[in-house]
Amino acid sequence: MTSIGQVTRQIAALEISSKPNTTRPTGATHQKKPSQSGQNVSKLLSKFAAPNPFPAPVQKSTSSSTIPTKSSARPPSPTKAPPPPPPSAPTQPAIDIGRYDGGFEIDNESRGEKVYGEAAEQLALDSSVARYRPTREWHLTDFDIGRPLGKGKFGRVYMVRTKCEPHYILALKCLYKSEIVQSRVEKQIRREIEIQQNLRHPNVLRLYGYFHDEKRIFLMLEFAGKGELYKQLTKHGCFSERRSARYVDQMADALMYLHAKHVIHRDIKPENLLLGINGELKIGDFGWSVHAPGNRRKTLCGTLDYLPPEMVEGKEHSEKVDYWALGVLTYEFICGAPPFEDLSGYNATYKRIARVDLKIPSKVSPEANDLIIKLLQYDPEKRLPLSEVRKHPWVVGHRSKSGSTAIRAS
Ligand code: AMP
Repeated sequence: MTSIGQVTRQIAALEISSKPNTTRPTGATHQKKPSQSGQNVSKLLSKFAAPNPFPAPVQKSTSSSTIPTKSSARPPSPTKAPPPPPPSAPTQPAIDIGRYDGGFEIDNESRGEKVYGEAAEQLALDSSVARYRPTREWHLTDFDIGRPLGKGKFGRVYMVRTKCEPHYILALKCLYKSEIVQSRVEKQIRREIEIQQNLRHPNVLRLYGYFHDEKRIFLMLEFAGKGELYKQLTKHGCFSERRSARYVDQMADALMYLHAKHVIHRDIKPENLLLGINGELKIGDFGWSVHAPGNRRKTLCGTLDYLPPEMVEGKEHSEKVDYWALGVLTYEFICGAPPFEDLSGYNATYKRIARVDLKIPSKVSPEANDLIIKLLQYDPEKRLPLSEVRKHPWVVGHRSKSGSTAIRAS
């Protein structure tokens, strides 16, 4: 059995507010919103971002909820005082995981029914019995639950800390089985989980483990300390070319990794990207991914703004759909809206994509302009390969000397 130390990595925290509406306003450019608080928290927590080989006991936050386990419910033995920390152990401040609002229990009463039969089998997802790299067995009682991070279609996401040493910080995402069945996405969810649990890349959100009970599935996700990239884009309207180039560099690297594993993402867009504590980009949603070793797919999926001509025209497509999406993303980072967006509706957007009706504003530098044009090619085979994207002068010119792609919020 794999220990938690082998399975998980410590990811640190910053404030993330809940997401009241995941739907993106059509045609809206990114509006400025008040800036996030918690910069000091960020500084403190970044100390916990790196795995600590000798973790000292971390004080429990008083505000978080501890769901009692069989062992923690027992009164502490008066004869057994906890051993003092070794003299050399560094003193670490507690990470405040915030106040739990009881959302898991509230939801569990009001939504979700048990599922039976084949669907129940499909959704009996448990990483401790996974064929490939099984983890230790996990239960909800293994976590202290903190602040809500957001709400997704199938349930809530919370910041949590493992009760066992060394108290890793994670995002725990809950999915209601009956709602998955109602939406007929059992296979898709299963596939998403299977894909994500096998991925290991600094710019791909880790899935450390998963478990289920009668009504719910829980995903133990890497905690993305700076939240959603889309929120940043909304806050700033658009990004500087330096910041955009660094994200593009990280995206190209992550996509190369995914494609080498025969995973086509197919739904690259700012809403599916999260940010780690150092501002590094994390591809975080595998809902539309396909594991496609050598085969080409015909299903239409994803948001229209990011779809390549071959997909809107219902033709076969390959991993080159992600190259196109990277071109759209580059444009949107710099200009604040996707290039083929047409406020008059889907049909108009469709036509603009099919014609590659691309107009790049004059504020865009010639180097960025060149990269966008090279990625947004009608013919998938003519799109710039990802290895070339990483060598492109615009990307190389904005890469930091240390090679670090971390991005400080600007
Ligand atoms: P989702 O169900 O994946 O759409 O998640 C709902 C919201 O929870 C997202 O929009 C994020 O704001 C937040 N969230 C999800 N996963 C994480 C994570 N790993 N780290 C931090 N926040 C997350």
